[in-house]
Amino acid sequence: MEVYNLHQQKLSDILDEDSSRDDWTDWKWHIRNSIKTVAGFEKALGIKFSDKERKMHEQTLKKFPLAVSPYYLSLIHKDDYKNDPIFKQSFPDPRELIIGRSDMVDPLHEDGDSPVPGITHRYPDRVLFHVSNICSMYCRHCTRKRKVGDVDSIPDMEQLEAGFEYIRNTPQIRDVLLSGGDPFMLSDEKLDWLLTKIGEIEHVEVVRIGTRMPVVLPYRVTDKLVNMLKKHHPLWINTHFNHPCEVTTSSKRALAKLADAGIPLGNQSVLLAGINDCPRLMKTLNHKLVKNRVRPYYLYQCDLSEGLSHFRTPVGKGIEILESLRGHTSGFAVPTYVIDAPGGGGKIPVMPNYIVSWATNKIILRNYEGVITTYAEPDSYECNYCDRNCEECNLQLMEEDAEEKPIGIAKLLSDWDDTLSLTPEENERTERSANDSR
Ligand SMILES: *Cc1c(COP(=O)(O)O)cnc(C)c1O
Repeated sequence: MEVYNLHQQKLSDILDEDSSRDDWTDWKWHIRNSIKTVAGFEKALGIKFSDKERKMHEQTLKKFPLAVSPYYLSLIHKDDYKNDPIFKQSFPDPRELIIGRSDMVDPLHEDGDSPVPGITHRYPDRVLFHVSNICSMYCRHCTRKRKVGDVDSIPDMEQLEAGFEYIRNTPQIRDVLLSGGDPFMLSDEKLDWLLTKIGEIEHVEVVRIGTRMPVVLPYRVTDKLVNMLKKHHPLWINTHFNHPCEVTTSSKRALAKLADAGIPLGNQSVLLAGINDCPRLMKTLNHKLVKNRVRPYYLYQCDLSEGLSHFRTPVGKGIEILESLRGHTSGFAVPTYVIDAPGGGGKIPVMPNYIVSWATNKIILRNYEGVITTYAEPDSYECNYCDRNCEECNLQLMEEDAEEKPIGIAKLLSDWDDTLSLTPEENERTERSANDSR
């Protein structure tokens, strides 16, 4: 029996429409009836704030909008709503208006790394394509709080065309990630059109969709949608479960439909204080996900976007969670814990330390139980000189376009050129020596 049954009657009482059972599983009904005001939220949940509280919450809404689907709201346990993970993810908190010392409007430098509106091109071979600016539910912890719900900037056809054009003209792009907002807010027809247009670009090898619909409005995953998506393989989907209580019967059904359509499913959680900052809870969540054929992909350290300080944990909490997972459970139930580097540096993985020491012929490691062990390295290893001339190499990489220049640390490690070091800009020492040599 799903939790929503408890609320269904109540919701139909308040919402103007006649909510028969059919309506409840109709995703568009949920969008039309999504709760967007503090008073609406009180009514739907059957709670009452004091006038002072209501005023405070309404103030927060002026900066960051509220929207929650009746479905997602119905998962809230009313009796202890202040501690409820769904409530905390969907209902505004006055602390969102506090701007901390390290907060930034666009910490991931998404707008800065944008060659055309709607595209963020950060990594060499893949882009983020913002195809929708709206969501059925506005996560209070959203890293793109600055943008979502800003109705004026829903990408129009012209902007989408500019995105296609950029991808078409940039042959390095082999992976396109549709994001938003939530791409599943678009109609099936529009999504079909988008996926077809991207599919026509020869150098694009995979398309991914990032959507929270399986969590916040699983009825969006209709047979019609899935039948359409199936035509566009290879297609990957990443969703965003943060708490085990979000894995409901309806969510499971949505995930099963997607998995049955042959779509590999991943999950990106955000580590959130007071919501999921607990090793045991995270293990439960990841077990539930793999049971439903969803591979935990990333666990994000909460970004430095404005208004999120009350959600942030120290990095140590994430390491502690990883420590409790690796070795203790199936390897595919362990996500990669990442910090998305402020300033657009991209995702940086962090994890517990497993290397205890190292000599020329052995490495000392410790395992999840604390056992310290020795791995003997090979006595001889023929070091291949690699100048990236793959045609002459014995390894038989028969790829025509395999040639690419290494960058960053990979460049220092390679024999490709004679770069010895990477030096930060404005290094006084190098500036001095440049002057000396003049
Ligand atoms: C997260 C992200 C990607 C995808 O990163 P993966 O590690 O490949 O999943 C691509 N572009 C941007 C801008 C991103 O933030």
